[in-house]
Amino acid sequence: MLHAKSHHQRDEEKFVFKADTSSTPIFGSAESDVLLPRERIGQKMMDPRIAYQLVSDEMMHDGNPRYNLCTFVQTYMEEEAQKIMRDSMATNAIDKSEYPQTTEIEKRCVNIIANLWNVNHEEDFMGTSTVGSSEACMLGGMAMKFRWRKRAQSLGLDMGKKPNLIVSSGYQVVWEKFCVYWDIELREVPMSDLNNLTLDPHKAIALCDAYTIGIVPIMGITYTGGFDDIVTLDRLLSAYNQSAKISVPIHVDAASGGLYLPFMNPDLKWDFRLKNVVSISTSGHKYGLIYPGIGWVMWRDKEFLPEELIFKVAYLGDFEPTFQINFSRSGSQIWAQYYCFVRWGFEGYKAVHAKTRDVGLFLARGIKSLGLFEMINEGENIPIVCWSMSARADKKWDLYDLADRLRFNGWQVPAYPLPAKFQNVSVMRIVVRADQSMEQMSLFLKDLKHAIKELDNIQFERPKSQTTPVGYTH
Ligand SMILES: *Cc1c(COP(=O)(O)O)cnc(C)c1O
Repeated sequence: MLHAKSHHQRDEEKFVFKADTSSTPIFGSAESDVLLPRERIGQKMMDPRIAYQLVSDEMMHDGNPRYNLCTFVQTYMEEEAQKIMRDSMATNAIDKSEYPQTTEIEKRCVNIIANLWNVNHEEDFMGTSTVGSSEACMLGGMAMKFRWRKRAQSLGLDMGKKPNLIVSSGYQVVWEKFCVYWDIELREVPMSDLNNLTLDPHKAIALCDAYTIGIVPIMGITYTGGFDDIVTLDRLLSAYNQSAKISVPIHVDAASGGLYLPFMNPDLKWDFRLKNVVSISTSGHKYGLIYPGIGWVMWRDKEFLPEELIFKVAYLGDFEPTFQINFSRSGSQIWAQYYCFVRWGFEGYKAVHAKTRDVGLFLARGIKSLGLFEMINEGENIPIVCWSMSARADKKWDLYDLADRLRFNGWQVPAYPLPAKFQNVSVMRIVVRADQSMEQMSLFLKDLKHAIKELDNIQFERPKSQTTPVGYTH
C-alpha cells in the first residue's frame, strides 16, 4: 500500500513514472502530491510554475502582513517603488567601483538624513546605510566604546574593569546584544512612573562614571512609542562633563522616531542641535517607509567615529571609507530609500505621517471609549496605541485571550508584559503604519468589539492563559 511507504519512496516513484509537461495542471502534478523537501535537497528539478505555486503557498501561513498590527516594519510600498527595488536587486552595495551610482545614491541619502537631523555644517559629519537599526546601533555603540577606550588608556584607568552603557529599561533588545557581544555592562535606569515610561535624565546621570562609554536615550520607545527627554539629558550632561574625568556622549536610538519627527515635530530638539548628541541611528524600514532591511547611522563629526572602525574599499580608482559590520548586500533598499525621498519630498512624508497619526488618535479614542482599558499611549507621540486592562473592568478573560480572539479575524495584535518594575502589567500595542487607513482601523474596532462580546459570553473553565510574551516586541 502506498501509505505504508515513506514519503521519500513515494517521491521516487512519482518522479520516475510520471513526467510533468507544460500542460500538467499544477495541482494535478506529482510534486503537489508529495511533501516538499524539509531536510535534504530533492533529487529532481521542478517546473518553475509548479515550484512557484507550492513555495508561495507556504507563505499564506505567515498571515497577511497588512493585518500585522504589532510591527513597526513597513508592509506596503507603491508599485513604482517595488519596481525600483526589482531593478536594483542585483546590485551589491559594497561593490563601490562596480556600482558607483549606488554609492552616490547612498551618499545622497546620508546627506538628506543628516540635514533632516540638523547637522552642524561647521563639523564634518559621517554616515552610512546599514541592514537595520540593529547594525546601526552596534556601530554607534562600537564607536563610543573605542573612543572611550582611547581616552581611558591615556588617563591610565584600570582597563581590566568593564566599561558600561546607560539606557532606560525600555530599551530594545539590540542594546542587550551590543553589551553582550562587546563585553559591556548594561546599566539600566528603571522607568519610574507608569504614566511616564521614559528615561529619567537625573537617574541616568547619577549612574555615570569614568567607565561610561555613553548614554542611549530612545526616540520612539519600543513598548509605548514615547520619547525620552533628551533636552534635559543634554543639559545635565553638559554640567556633568565639565568636571568629568571622561566626558560622556549621547547616542540617540531613533529607530522609529528618526524619520518621523523631522516631518511631524521639527521644533522638538533631540538631534544634532543638542551638543552632546554625537551619533544617531534609525531604521529606514520603519517610518522611513522602506521594506526591510535598511537602517542609517550618523556621527555629528568624524572625531566621534574612531579610525580603527573605518575600512577602505576601492572606488573609482580611489578608496571609499566603509564602516559596516555586513559586507555584501543588495543595493535595492538604498535605491528604494532614495526613490521615496524623491517621490514624496518633505510634504509627502509629512502627509503620510500626518494621516498615520490621525488614524492612531482615532484608534485610541475608539479603544478608550470601550471603558475597559487603561490607556498607556494614545498615539500622540509615535503613532502607537498601547493599553492595559483596567482594574475596574472585572473580566474573566485577559489581554492574551483577546489577542487569541482577534486572530480569528486575521488581526495580529500581541499582548506582553512591560519591562522591569512593571512586569506585572500586561499591555497590548498597535503600531499604526502608513498603509493603515481610517477604513481599515474602523473595521478593526468593529472586530475588537465583537471579540470582546464573544469573550464575555464564554464560560471560562480552562486555566488562565500564559503571561509570557507572544511574538516580537520590536
Ligand atoms: C526596532 C528598533 C530597533 C531595532 O531595529 P531593526 O531595524 O529592527 O534592527 C532598535 N531600537 C529601537 C528603539 C527599535 O524600535
